[in-house]
Amino acid sequence: MHAIVSGAGVAGLTLAGRLALDGWTVDVVERAPAPRASGYLIDFYGPGYDAAERLGLLPALRERAESFDELRIVDGSGRVRAKLAIALVEQAVQGRYLSILRPQIVDALLAALPQGATVHWGTQVETVFDDGGQVSVLLSSGERLEADLLVGADGVGSRVRQLVWGPPEQFVRPIAGLTAVAWIGDDAELVADLEGRVAMQVELDRQLMIAPLSATEVTGFAVLRGVEPSAGRAAVAGMGVLGRRALRSVREPYIDAVAQTIVPQWVRGRTVLLGDACAAVSLLAGQGASLAIAGAERLAEELSFARHPSDVVAGLAAYERDWQPIVEREQARGRRNATAFAPHTRIELEAQRAVWRAAAVPGVAALVARAAGGVTKPV
Ligand SMILES: Cc1cc2nc3c(=O)[nH]c(=O)nc-3n(C[C@H](O)[C@H](O)[C@H](O)COP(=O)(O)OP(=O)(O)OC[C@H]3O[C@@H](n4cnc5c(N)ncnc54)[C@H](O)[C@@H]3O)c2cc1C
Repeated sequence: MHAIVSGAGVAGLTLAGRLALDGWTVDVVERAPAPRASGYLIDFYGPGYDAAERLGLLPALRERAESFDELRIVDGSGRVRAKLAIALVEQAVQGRYLSILRPQIVDALLAALPQGATVHWGTQVETVFDDGGQVSVLLSSGERLEADLLVGADGVGSRVRQLVWGPPEQFVRPIAGLTAVAWIGDDAELVADLEGRVAMQVELDRQLMIAPLSATEVTGFAVLRGVEPSAGRAAVAGMGVLGRRALRSVREPYIDAVAQTIVPQWVRGRTVLLGDACAAVSLLAGQGASLAIAGAERLAEELSFARHPSDVVAGLAAYERDWQPIVEREQARGRRNATAFAPHTRIELEAQRAVWRAAAVPGVAALVARAAGGVTKPV
């Protein structure tokens, strides 16, 4: 059996690895010329953590994970307003939690790729032809591939979805006018001032988080309401002491509208969508990478019964039937979380600040941590 996977990201590489272990030949087609070093910090827990354990990926992920001891809530003048021990958050999810950079997840998945899976870097699918029995694609490199299955695991702006389903405007839904800014940068002075702690600031329509990665590297992200992506950088700089320092060493942060993908049907003939291409929950749900890994495992499981090309279509239908309701539930939760990221009214802001202040009280801290479920993206 042969699969073509568009996108060497979290979902595509997980699927490729698992299918290759089941004896499939997998061609992964990735537009980027090499693994991308840029990225952001991910709270990794929930279904993806469980799937990673079953897939034997957990030791490699743990090796590449970051570790922080405390989250500090600061105000615009840099004063610490509340503190939360990160161990409490970890306890709230029974220690089944990792804080890890997205490129490090990709690195772990690439290192685990078995023989039988090949990544074609620097190329993309140009045309798709599905005759019902086989699907064939023409790559921008000029190469033609034929397979039993084509998987669009190429992110929110999915190329495969565009070619087979239609233009992105139909499927990509911005949420609550929010823009995300995320980055990794070099700033030894900021690292020293953070003293190994994560700093977070929540203002009206704004949230900012910065964490140290090494002696010189920092990572951060901000969520901004009512700010166009083109104005994202300036808006972060306007967030007081922390905001002014946040991006000063960063040349090109990731800036994009916060969005979900809503695709009513994930399967067309022998083509299927996976991960953010059909199921982006947005960073507001703090579960996108986790669901990408768990969804890939689910799809591979449904396909593991396929002994003949004609079995593939039944496997795809089972994946869509079982996995889509889980994604829809997480997407609804993500939309509800918009307020927690960027409180829109004074009352919402004060309520959130009261929760963080309460986190300084020992018994309450565990409750706040449990509600947070994630460190860098408290919900
Ligand atoms: C700022 C931010 C913070 C986040 N925080 C969290 C978090 O805390 N927890 C969490 O679980 N998730 C988080 N997420 C979400 C998470 O990153 C994604 O949901 C997850 O990476 C989705 O995996 P994917 O494989 O579908 O897409 P991606 O990992 O984006 O991979 C898609 C791949 O497809 C490639 N590609 C794109 N176009 C083409 C093309 N035309 N041809 C071939 N290849 C192509 C891309 O280069 C990329 O390699 C966050 C996202 C953002 C933006």
